[in-house]
Amino acid sequence: MLISEIIRKKRDGATLDEAEIAALVAGITDGSASDEQVGAFGMAVYFQGMEAEEAAALTLAMRDSGDVMRWDLPGPVVDKHSTGGVGDNVSLMLAPIVAACGGFVPMISGRGLGHTGGTLDKMEAIPGYSATPDNDTFRRVVREVGCAIIGQTGTIAPADKRFYGIRDVTATVESIPLITASILSKKLAAGLDALVMDVKTGNGAFMPTFEASRDLARSIARVSTAAGVPCHALLTAMDQPLARDAGNAVEVRNAVEFLTDVHRDVRLEWVTLALAGEMLTLAGLTQDRETGFSVARAALEDGRAAEVFAKMVAGLGGPADFVERYEDHLPKAPLTRDIAAPVEGHVASIDTRGIGLAVVELGGGRRRSADEIDPAVGITGMIDLGQTVREGTVMCTIHARSEDELDAAEQQIRAAYRIGEAPEQTDPVLEIIT
Ligand code: URA
Repeated sequence: MLISEIIRKKRDGATLDEAEIAALVAGITDGSASDEQVGAFGMAVYFQGMEAEEAAALTLAMRDSGDVMRWDLPGPVVDKHSTGGVGDNVSLMLAPIVAACGGFVPMISGRGLGHTGGTLDKMEAIPGYSATPDNDTFRRVVREVGCAIIGQTGTIAPADKRFYGIRDVTATVESIPLITASILSKKLAAGLDALVMDVKTGNGAFMPTFEASRDLARSIARVSTAAGVPCHALLTAMDQPLARDAGNAVEVRNAVEFLTDVHRDVRLEWVTLALAGEMLTLAGLTQDRETGFSVARAALEDGRAAEVFAKMVAGLGGPADFVERYEDHLPKAPLTRDIAAPVEGHVASIDTRGIGLAVVELGGGRRRSADEIDPAVGITGMIDLGQTVREGTVMCTIHARSEDELDAAEQQIRAAYRIGEAPEQTDPVLEIIT
């Protein structure tokens, strides 16, 4: 089958059949489709879209381009995927909570992308933690502890790895069928029984509008379920950072303090328990999401989730006493600066993307994929949307390596926080798509 004919057909708006999609994905995987052809195919889909069946066929072909994990565990295998946000350390608490309630969570997560943080970068802020263990270690930790947060290996969905790299430089990332196939090919290769999506919406989200976020959520839920993995999607607010801290080590600290009840950010707790309730219910461990929410809360409150987190960290090479002595183990930036509110009023809006970019520029994220990140830098204690401030109230604290970086981040944060009238407040979970 000629790749150029498949591209031509999609360019002209026709529907591709399973065999054509399989041929294209084989070409992406073995390199017989050139970069130009893969880019042209991405652009054809960007403009012409795909039917649900085509997106499902693309997802399955990309899933099958590499290893597909199989599990034999005494409970359901379930995971969550987020489209990414700022101060979004949900996974660090969610995986242990669900594991403490009887689920098994083999969480294959990613690095930071653009202004959004990456779970993998956060876990690697823990000294000794191996986010790329060998397959036996990964399987053993999932079996013995209930969850393991690791990075994608080269053998999971290699077609997506190549296709995503080409989409990234040909302006074809923002296509709902392509995002659907990209995310799901990796998640379905992890051998899940159920999947819950956290699709962010708001000025820190990857999708530009609420409608686009909802379309993506619907597309992923439909394709995953059609592929045999039941999937629900929560649309959650990303119009302000979810945790009050953003960075790598600072978000790990926030997660440990959440698990051990030293401090819990309210919206973060709400989203985490809502996702946990949905996962437990979809995996058949609880009867409905309200029960799931309460069961998850109980595992958090009685310390079982913190225990699972501690075992996961130790099982993947981190310190055995990490939860007790996280302050000693986590790296700290040498300089800090408090940012004070310039006037009295309310936090009227927060440019969440701007906050995420400030973290990137501090060195907590990457400008190019090859960049090393600095785990210690970040922003802590960010005040919430709607909060009342007086002139001089501390709005947040910057953690940096140099005075120049403090100055640059201060400027970005001042531009991101607008003080004025109190905005209308919304719940952090906006909609659940089933
Ligand atoms: N994340 C992915 O993994 N793939 C996309 O296409 C977009 C975001």
